[in-house]
Amino acid sequence: MTPPLKRDPVTMRVSARYEAMLDSGGDPHEWAYAWRTELNRGGFRAVDFLMDRVVAAGRCVGCASCVTVCPVDVFEYADEAPIPTRADACVLCVLCADVCPVLRPADRDLDDLLGYRDPAEDRGFGAYAYGWYARATDPAIRDRAQDGGVASALLIHALETGRIAGAVLGDVMPDDSQIGRPRLARDRHAVLACAGSRYTYSPNTLALQEAMRSKVAPLAVVGVPCQVDGMRLQQHSSIRLEMADWYRSNVTLVLGLFCSEAFTHESLDRLGEMLGVERGRIANINIKGKVVVRLDDGEVRTTSLKRYREFARPACLYCVDYGAEHADIGLGGIGLDGWTFTLVRTERGHEAFEAALHAGVIEVRPLADEPRGMMLLEKLSADKKANRPHPARMPSLSERRAQGWLDPKTYYTKGPGAPAGVAAEDGT
Ligand SMILES: Cc1cc2nc3c(=O)[nH]c(=O)nc-3n(C[C@H](O)[C@H](O)[C@H](O)COP(=O)(O)OP(=O)(O)OC[C@H]3O[C@@H](n4cnc5c(N)ncnc54)[C@H](O)[C@@H]3O)c2cc1C
Ligand code: SF4
Ligand code: SF4
Repeated sequence: MTPPLKRDPVTMRVSARYEAMLDSGGDPHEWAYAWRTELNRGGFRAVDFLMDRVVAAGRCVGCASCVTVCPVDVFEYADEAPIPTRADACVLCVLCADVCPVLRPADRDLDDLLGYRDPAEDRGFGAYAYGWYARATDPAIRDRAQDGGVASALLIHALETGRIAGAVLGDVMPDDSQIGRPRLARDRHAVLACAGSRYTYSPNTLALQEAMRSKVAPLAVVGVPCQVDGMRLQQHSSIRLEMADWYRSNVTLVLGLFCSEAFTHESLDRLGEMLGVERGRIANINIKGKVVVRLDDGEVRTTSLKRYREFARPACLYCVDYGAEHADIGLGGIGLDGWTFTLVRTERGHEAFEAALHAGVIEVRPLADEPRGMMLLEKLSADKKANRPHPARMPSLSERRAQGWLDPKTYYTKGPGAPAGVAAEDGT
């Protein structure tokens, strides 16, 4: 059960209309009319609706799109969620609700607006035109990168050729290399400082605020699938206000990272215990069927992914996208070690990729060189969607706590959401 609203009558009306639409089993693409209907009547405090329905219910994935789309900065962001510190400044534009990926699916015309490149084939992980194993040719990039350094190489090339003026990505905290923070990178040095993956949640897109304030554009954005979705909803919200226009005009390349799940901050302490080392000695984490950890002295140790998964972020249940289906280019670490599994999805993605390939800053190998990569992509994408309704229809965090099942990965396969006949085991 969603916590009851204690708000003004219009917010209550929107909430009741929305709940009725969810319950009716009708077309999810209609859900947004629960709040869009109020626009012609002067709008309403969507911030209250969003906070009750998504954040208080523990359904927020932390993508930060409500924060970065708000034209009057109603929200701060902390602990992977928005905080409405200036709710009274709300101008009733309703954008924060319209861009939340947990409240609704993207509008049907999104695929047309994104401009998928032909032949746009969808084999269960989003439309794409072609794929390669790719890597940076510059060893200095590869040394710092998570896999083949394609994300960093594409960004550096785009910056140095003037295709973009800034890249919104994730840096590390000065005192903890496994915790991310947003950064607006404007040169090679800054992009390289951000290379590699942090497996905790990093609210990269908060750096859009700095880009907008400092008028840095055009921009590339790097993010996990929930951030890519939030970005697309901000660009293509049907409520065409100044903010959506700005993002549509100025965010010209979106690089999406494949993602099964992220992990809690607490997971880092537990990982240290599992490996028998101080948490501060963990220099890099990579997940390759097992957890591969590089320590500060270069030693590599591995441990069980099954055990580490106990510390997956519960919020990752509210996400059914593995391959960053709405990115211009999707990037992952499956398949060949030291190479990035690269899917070019849109015309914009193709232009950026081709330009970097042509300039010799990346090199490629066919996906057929290691067919396991494609098999894994198909399997992991299908697993992430199996039996799952839209996140808006999923149980709240408190309901899951009451059921004793917080693991996002198994809730719909072995847990309370599994099809009848599959026995529930303990998934906390
Ligand atoms: C939380 C998380 C889960 C992932 N899960 C999978 C998976 O299940 N399967 C798979 O194949 N690949 C997964 N990846 C992607 C993989 O780790 C690599 O990011 C990808 O292969 C690109 O490698 P690269 O060498 O080209 O990138 P690099 O050149 O090293 O650049 C990596 C970029 O990622 C950004 N970044 C780092 N940490 C984060 C973060 N926490 N959130 C958002 N952006 C970040 C950096 O700012 C940098 O720009 C995951 C990544 C993250 C962050
Ligand atoms: S999921 Fe994203 S848009 Fe929705 S409330 Fe959370 S941070 Fe905001
Ligand atoms: S699993 Fe989904 S919600 Fe969780 S970090 Fe990855 S993209 Fe975001």
